[in-house]
Amino acid sequence: MAKLPKGTLSIGDRAYTVGEDFVTFSPLTGTFNELVYAGYGIEDENYSDYQSLDVEGKIILVRSGEPKNEDGTYIISGTKKSSAWSNMSEAAGKRLEEAAARGAKAVLFLDGDNYRRYERYYKMMKTNDSGRLGFKDDGSNPSLFLIKETMAQAILPELDKLKSSVVRPMQIIADLKSSNEDVSTENVVAYIEGSEKPNEYVVISAHLDHIGISRDGSINNGADDDGSGTVALLEIAEAFKLAADAGRKPKRSIVFLHVTGEEKGLLGSRYYTDYEPLFPLSQTVANLNIDMIGRIDPKREGDRNYVYVIGSNKLSSDLHELSEAVNDKYTKITLDYTYNDENDPNRFYYRSDHYNFAKNNIPIVFYFSGTHEDYHRPGDTPDKINYDLLTKRAQLVFYTTWAVANRNERVVVDKESK
Ligand SMILES: [Zn+2]
Repeated sequence: MAKLPKGTLSIGDRAYTVGEDFVTFSPLTGTFNELVYAGYGIEDENYSDYQSLDVEGKIILVRSGEPKNEDGTYIISGTKKSSAWSNMSEAAGKRLEEAAARGAKAVLFLDGDNYRRYERYYKMMKTNDSGRLGFKDDGSNPSLFLIKETMAQAILPELDKLKSSVVRPMQIIADLKSSNEDVSTENVVAYIEGSEKPNEYVVISAHLDHIGISRDGSINNGADDDGSGTVALLEIAEAFKLAADAGRKPKRSIVFLHVTGEEKGLLGSRYYTDYEPLFPLSQTVANLNIDMIGRIDPKREGDRNYVYVIGSNKLSSDLHELSEAVNDKYTKITLDYTYNDENDPNRFYYRSDHYNFAKNNIPIVFYFSGTHEDYHRPGDTPDKINYDLLTKRAQLVFYTTWAVANRNERVVVDKESK
């Protein structure tokens, strides 16, 4: 759990305090004997602040903005338009990325115009410092320090006169200790080996976590989100196992992936795809993801035999046609594609675990019955689940998985992932 670091940064004979002279979100400890001023910290086709500058293992100071020609146009764009290097949402990130590529240890970023905004964000995090969950930082990326104008002037009084990058001997002692806490959790995985193509995999997923207890102590039950997907996953696994035991093993292997940390940013599925795919992603034929299939969207009241299908046609026409055909034949549910629209502001395609597969060019189908008044609230309880619909929707996922796993050819990827 990432929490704000505490401590000081001493440069020369002064000590600077986090939260007062600068803000940072990442810890750093160590002693350094040089400060590198690297101008704007820009490296671009038409301009470089780095040239032959060696910043490996060093602390660098860079400033916001970007250089201009004599005629007032920007060097990088060649026009009156500034580049991404001047855009607040990218300015720090781009500089940090460049510094990281060069092995710098930390970046002191002077952005006087925006300092208050960074500071406000820091203070907000500090007031509700319950920490953010993420993967453990391996310490290989440079730390970013957003520094006040006064701090920059104290470190380098001639700053405004400097025309190019310089290296200054200076003692820097960083003592910003992490107050991160380790949280461990796990995905739960089971699989049934395929009879003919055991090295091709169909992944069915749902998430096992929810949002926990509210500040007032009430329990968020998460019956729909994602208890519904969880029980569907278990039922489907049971059905496949019964079939396998009766001599009807699927041709391809089926992976039942019950992921953790979805609510904290799709962490469990990302861990699976980005860090430790138990089965090769190149051999993963499709992912069918179930996240909330037990309720009725108020917008669809009175017409309850439906499920929102998202993403089925994004990468593979094959998968989309198969999904339709299976439903026509067995479940006859209205497949509602409202949220499959690329322009839909909810962007559900990017918001559940299947996305980590889709970004790897693996065709996906996402099953979802929509949000409702109890979404992420204590009222998401089992008595409000429509069990007949949950059953039918789970059956649809089962039949579709069965078809994907048993057809002769794997579903073809014929579209680009976006
Ligand atoms: Zn969910």
